[in-house]
Amino acid sequence: MAEYKIPFNKPYLTGKEMHYMYQAVYSGKISGNGLFTQKCQAYFENNYGFKKALLTTSCTDALEMCAILAGIKAGDEVIVPSYTFVSTALAFIRQGAKIIFADSNAQNPNLDAERIEELITPRTRAIVPVHYAGVACDMDLIMKMADKYNLLVIEDAAQAINSYYKGKALGSIGHLSAFSFHETKNINCGEGGMLAINDDKLIERAEIIWEKGTNRTKFYKGMVNKYEWVDTGSSFLPSEINAAYLYAQIEHLQNIQAKRKGIWHRYFSELETWTNKSGIELPHIPEYGTNNGHMFYMLCSGKEQRTSLIDYLKSNGIWAVSHYLSLHNSPYYKGMYEGPELVNSDKYTDRLIRLPLYYELSDADTKFVVDCVKSFPD
Ligand SMILES: *Cc1c(COP(=O)(O)O)cnc(C)c1O
Repeated sequence: MAEYKIPFNKPYLTGKEMHYMYQAVYSGKISGNGLFTQKCQAYFENNYGFKKALLTTSCTDALEMCAILAGIKAGDEVIVPSYTFVSTALAFIRQGAKIIFADSNAQNPNLDAERIEELITPRTRAIVPVHYAGVACDMDLIMKMADKYNLLVIEDAAQAINSYYKGKALGSIGHLSAFSFHETKNINCGEGGMLAINDDKLIERAEIIWEKGTNRTKFYKGMVNKYEWVDTGSSFLPSEINAAYLYAQIEHLQNIQAKRKGIWHRYFSELETWTNKSGIELPHIPEYGTNNGHMFYMLCSGKEQRTSLIDYLKSNGIWAVSHYLSLHNSPYYKGMYEGPELVNSDKYTDRLIRLPLYYELSDADTKFVVDCVKSFPD
């Protein structure tokens, strides 16, 4: 967008992407589950402790795989925060689930784990916590509820690469987890995602669902001498070209993370000292979680203030944005929603503003954004 001096996002190129894509193309194996796919999966398994990682064409696809693996069918209930991206709910609705929308915390947009028990019924099958901005949900509480009521926990870790809960990598705690490598995420391959499987019992079936309901993965491993149609599934695996791009990003992950976290901390510390009369709040990160520099957000005092701040930044060439519209109030779901008002979810819908955060945002640009925010007249 030409009118913005500082765009909201800019996907970062490490420089090795084309090189690896070229290698993939000329290797003669460009469909899925080749060398680059395996290198990416091995990296994530080895560094984050996932029992099995499978690359997918998106996080949405990984969530759809979760819904199939969880055996979700008509009438089953799935607990999902309302303040999230569409896919968190959509993947389960497609299987016929009834979505039970949970409210967010007062302190951050993650679902309020203290209040999950109120939402559980004999039809509940799964809880889907979303680690908003890469900051962990209270996983001990969530896993405790899941144990008590025999539910599956599916982490929507789309934003949560390289982030931790009490020392454990996000995505390694629930039975299943879904990550995104969409161009807006910390590392990306345009469109891409990953399913992480932490429950041994689900691995074999996940590989089948991933490969159109066939046991082709077993065939590749030499465990069967021809592959057959054995279950349901779809074409969930990305091509080697995407995996090659992603591999270049993975090689720079630590560098990317250091850079993004640096920008985040600069925003935070410079805005923290700014005593604001207009009631803007900075993000809260609970002690049990880390910050992975995915997103920098603030909370305005209300919708009007947020609109004027976005407009004010825009007039200075800075592209800031609001975020999710609560799903229980969406045009698609509104008529079906029967639950109570979700006060915190609505609060984030009305008040949250995100500032530009991307690898190439220089110190000078960051300072320019900070100075503009501080000069907001309101
Ligand atoms: C980005 C995102 C998704 C969707 O990811 P895709 O890879 O685009 O399918 C899902 N959930 C959350 C919380 C996200 O931020």
